[in-house]
Amino acid sequence: MSERNKIVDAIPVMAWSCLPNGSADYFNMHFLAYLGITTEEAVGWKWMSALHPDDAEQLKGIWLELLKSGRRGEAEARLRRSDGEYRWFLFRANPVFAEDGSVVRWYGTNTDIDDRKRAEEELRRTAAFLEQGQRLTQTGSVWWKPSSGQIYWSDGAYRVAGYPVTQKPTVNLILDRCHPEDLPMVREIVNRAIYDGTNMDLEHRLLLPDGEIKYVHVVLQNISSDAADPEFIGAVTDITGRTIADKKLRRSDVLLAEGQRISMTGTFSWKVDSDELAFSDELNRIFGFDPDVVVDFDRIAARVYEEDLELLAKKMAEVRLGGDNPDYDIRLLVDGRIKYVRVVGRIVRHLDGTSECIGAVQDVSAQRLAEQARDRLRSELAQLARVMSLSTVAASIAHEVNQPLAGIITNASTSLRMLAETPPNVSGAIETARRTIRDVNRAADVIVRLRTLFKRGVATIEPLDLNAAAREVIALLTNDMQRSRISLHSEFSGELPLIVGDRVQLQQVVMNLLRNSIDAMAENSPSSRKIVIRTEPEDDGGVQLTVTDTGSGLATPEIERLFDPFHTTKLYGMGIGLSVSRSIVEAHGGRIWAAPVSGGGAMFGFWIPGRDKPNSPSAMKADPP
Ligand code: ADP
Repeated sequence: MSERNKIVDAIPVMAWSCLPNGSADYFNMHFLAYLGITTEEAVGWKWMSALHPDDAEQLKGIWLELLKSGRRGEAEARLRRSDGEYRWFLFRANPVFAEDGSVVRWYGTNTDIDDRKRAEEELRRTAAFLEQGQRLTQTGSVWWKPSSGQIYWSDGAYRVAGYPVTQKPTVNLILDRCHPEDLPMVREIVNRAIYDGTNMDLEHRLLLPDGEIKYVHVVLQNISSDAADPEFIGAVTDITGRTIADKKLRRSDVLLAEGQRISMTGTFSWKVDSDELAFSDELNRIFGFDPDVVVDFDRIAARVYEEDLELLAKKMAEVRLGGDNPDYDIRLLVDGRIKYVRVVGRIVRHLDGTSECIGAVQDVSAQRLAEQARDRLRSELAQLARVMSLSTVAASIAHEVNQPLAGIITNASTSLRMLAETPPNVSGAIETARRTIRDVNRAADVIVRLRTLFKRGVATIEPLDLNAAAREVIALLTNDMQRSRISLHSEFSGELPLIVGDRVQLQQVVMNLLRNSIDAMAENSPSSRKIVIRTEPEDDGGVQLTVTDTGSGLATPEIERLFDPFHTTKLYGMGIGLSVSRSIVEAHGGRIWAAPVSGGGAMFGFWIPGRDKPNSPSAMKADPP
């Protein structure tokens, strides 16, 4: 072995030489040892069988190109080691020329670049992962050195900011994208970062040129060891989706709570096996619990109206025994007030065999009270109807009274005529006088019956709010008034004291007055049909109610007779409404009156004494005067 070959064998690279046609004629020891073959097994083109199949074609192509051009060159390819493992090598080939310029030989080296290649590969993979990760998380990486103005943005950062990757990133570019409302805040934080090296962690909005708004979260950490020269590395994340979802979630939470509050419905969950309970805020409110109380059955029982405890226990026992979805009403006693609640539950059987009762509790107090008021009004109206039919009965009685009255008058004049005869017909006159007495008795009988009828009406004496009583009557007449195109104005005093009396009877008075006004305006043009109903407290502690209309009005001489029984000016009138009204008002210790209204129309009013007045109806007799 020549001295030169010894040297070539000793160098830590693979070396080789080829003939001008590319056929190999020499390999150094290093090369042969790597391949694990002898020179004979490698020479010519034979060594090429150690090339990685994926690289062989390409390397051959480049090699043939070099041979043809006679220019030095290089290529990368994998070679199989004696143990079968492939490693990357950089093949370098240098031609040696004869004086005529033709290639005499080729000399080359193969340098092991496997570690570098792997590192590169690793880096590429890492970069790809990073890129992919950033794409998926809508995040970009940022590096920034304020002193030099250098900024690096990853592709992800460009994507978030909506700039093309060809744009050179600058601080101004970022501020340009900032939503105008957030700009002062961002500017301040950026300035602080530049001067103090303060880490940044902020959320703000971007306003893109197409008007799209993005929410971003920016985190930049100062990694510089030199306090005077900060250097930041960090990330910017597009959190638009999350922020909107958060907002939606918050909004739907708010809506749910608002819905519960408006509908006065609370929700609960009861884990039947462990007796764990959870109440919504509204349910805590319904039960009068503090918002963060831990609800248990003792607390609930303490709030349930005593008489309903048994029902609650029964309903819960049914659920425990695997019963159906509960649906029942119970009463609560919260702060001394009774609340009516409706409980509706659904049983959910979980996969682990446990069950949960999820339900809603609605505060239906308002409905219940309205129902009760409605029922009360209904029975009162039934009573009112009875009292009203009294006037029909009274009218027929009046008819009966008229007959004996007519008889009395006829008999009396017959008697007079008989006595005036010459000679006087005494026996005839006596007989006629007897018939007169019979008729008078009959009339008296009728009157007694009538009085008994009136008497039956006076009954319940209770404290009452005349405004409320009148409002109910108005409600009853609303349809009639609308049909008659009458506009009604109520001027109810807000300071009306309570009075004592029979509500239904006083309602009958108000009803009579309003009905009379409606009747009195029948001839008016619709635009001048107006009723004003007014209540006022009086200095004497009593209350006054007046009904003023724009109807036919009252002629002065007849005013006193209006309240007489059977006085009517109406074709189908009975003339009994005002007289009954007077009886009722006087039975309450009050007064009733009528007055003409200047410009036409009439005003009817009554006054009822206050509760504590001596002539108040607390001593009211059942029989009106
Ligand atoms: P009725 O309505 O059956 O006639 P009332 O006793 O209620 O019986 O009324 C008696 C009469 O008083 C009526 O026929 C009417 O002439 C007169 N009157 C009552 N209210 C008014 C009023 N608001 N305007 C004019 N006249 C009225």
